[in-house]
Amino acid sequence: MRVAVVGAGPIGLITALGLRHYGVEAVLFEEDDALSQDTKAGTVLTRTLEVLRRYGALDPVLRASIRIDEVGDLDRETNEKNFSVQSSALGEDTRFPFLINIPQHHLEPILHERLEELAPGTTRLGHKLTGFTQDDEAVEITFDTPGGERVESFDYLLACDGGRSTIRRLLGVEIAGITVPDRYMLVDMRMDLDVANHRDYPYLAYFGDEDEWMILIRQPHCWRFLFPLGPDQPEPSQDGLVDRARRFIGDVDQVEVLGSNIYPVHQRVATKWRDGRVLLMGDAAHLLTPMWALGLNTGALDASNVPWRLAWIERGWADQSLLDGYEGEQAMATKGSSEMAEAARAHMHKRENAALGMATGDWGIAMTRSLLGVRLDVDRTGVWSMNKHGTDPAPVASGDRIPDLPLYGGGGEVRLHDLCADAFVALWFGDTRQRPRGLTQTAPGLDSFLVSRWDAPPELDLRERLLLDPGERVRRRLGVEDNTLVLLRPDDHIAAIVPFDPRGDGGDAIRAYDRIMKMA
Ligand SMILES: Cc1cc2nc3c(=O)[nH]c(=O)nc-3n(C[C@H](O)[C@H](O)[C@H](O)COP(=O)(O)OP(=O)(O)OC[C@H]3O[C@@H](n4cnc5c(N)ncnc54)[C@H](O)[C@@H]3O)c2cc1C
Repeated sequence: MRVAVVGAGPIGLITALGLRHYGVEAVLFEEDDALSQDTKAGTVLTRTLEVLRRYGALDPVLRASIRIDEVGDLDRETNEKNFSVQSSALGEDTRFPFLINIPQHHLEPILHERLEELAPGTTRLGHKLTGFTQDDEAVEITFDTPGGERVESFDYLLACDGGRSTIRRLLGVEIAGITVPDRYMLVDMRMDLDVANHRDYPYLAYFGDEDEWMILIRQPHCWRFLFPLGPDQPEPSQDGLVDRARRFIGDVDQVEVLGSNIYPVHQRVATKWRDGRVLLMGDAAHLLTPMWALGLNTGALDASNVPWRLAWIERGWADQSLLDGYEGEQAMATKGSSEMAEAARAHMHKRENAALGMATGDWGIAMTRSLLGVRLDVDRTGVWSMNKHGTDPAPVASGDRIPDLPLYGGGGEVRLHDLCADAFVALWFGDTRQRPRGLTQTAPGLDSFLVSRWDAPPELDLRERLLLDPGERVRRRLGVEDNTLVLLRPDDHIAAIVPFDPRGDGGDAIRAYDRIMKMA
């Protein structure tokens, strides 16, 4: 299988890394001769960190970023904190109980370098897609290149070509929604808020106000201010920008404006995400306001959802209908992101209808704002959510992202996300002493493990497939009963939760898996 990924923005880069992770041949095409230098997104949420880790690209990103454990909501007049999201509430759920700030134009070259390290020659700069045709066998794509027009054939075309997507336009797909009357203005300023002008702001702080709100983001090399700019308001001068910042943070000395950017804000979602062998992803599929860092990070959910599906099709383990789930699940996740972004915008304006992200409780709010709380509609029953609730970790359901908890195999600790990084995994929660019989049943692409607090004697074959769960910490955290099978997908989401009979033949796991592969 050969897959064309068009657009080397963050979503094209993450998607190409994902395809490489699963061993699918990908070529990444970018119309420009270099990656974008524009000042755009600045915060990467925890769920995106997990996706980057799975695809082998997290370490250099972390090295270049600034980590944050608190997102604050400050009163614009007094600078007092009204409320804050504490990422430490995620300690039970992830190995990364924090978010990071990194400018998009620093992130993209890191992802690109990593991609070329892992799969040299994947990227072709200076290749602009100008057209394509598709049939049952392939997609023929036409590129405008420095050497003239070129036509190449691929099995699939992933449209990561951004908000003005040519591919979306050629498909005749509408991107429905609204464009917000205000534009937003990003301003990067170098100033010392640590020592010379000490401020106690969280590294990501939202200053809400009816008339004039502001978001303050500490970047590795500067402080970034984001203001709304009314439809008729002219672009402020450099002094005007500094004055505006001072209206929020008080007097500070030695301010240097590094750069600024004004951009329109949309809230739009494509009416269709897949047409045969062509899939829309990232901004090509959805344009969200930058509120709560949902733009880039919602796109990363797309890049988590598509590559494993293509891998399973390539390996002959699933038919093409496995791609239907992408449109069904991800479009809903985006609807949730849109609702959260709208709630955030209302909140910043202190409008009366502002509901704080619809999540509740310290844990629920931290899960929601980190995007760890996404529940995908894996059963296609219309049950999905972006929000979690509660002060403490709550039981999981089908579609949830599995918490990245440790179990213990023969070689020591193994985390749940590592177990399923390139496999469906059936976790059989049960009692080793009952020797569950069905465990040996398997299918291509499916691994099975017994999870129990009871170890097996070394001479039993069962021990090979046993993961020790001391104190049943994992079973309790998931909130499942003994004799329950939890089926994990390669993107860490729970595909099914079903009871099993320890004396049965193990058909439950195979049936649940086959149903997803649509081969049953
Ligand atoms: C000014 C600005 C500020 C933003 N701030 C935030 C923020 O604070 N937080 C947040 O979460 N999000 C923010 N966003 C949104 C975020 O930047 C996007 O969600 C993100 O860039 C989407 O990534 P993408 O890869 O889907 O698309 P893009 O980043 O747009 O990348 C698309 C790529 O495709 C290439 N391309 C286009 N057409 C073709 C073609 N025909 N052939 C080949 N290549 C093509 C383009 O050159 C580009 O490199 C901001 C956006 C802007 C514009």
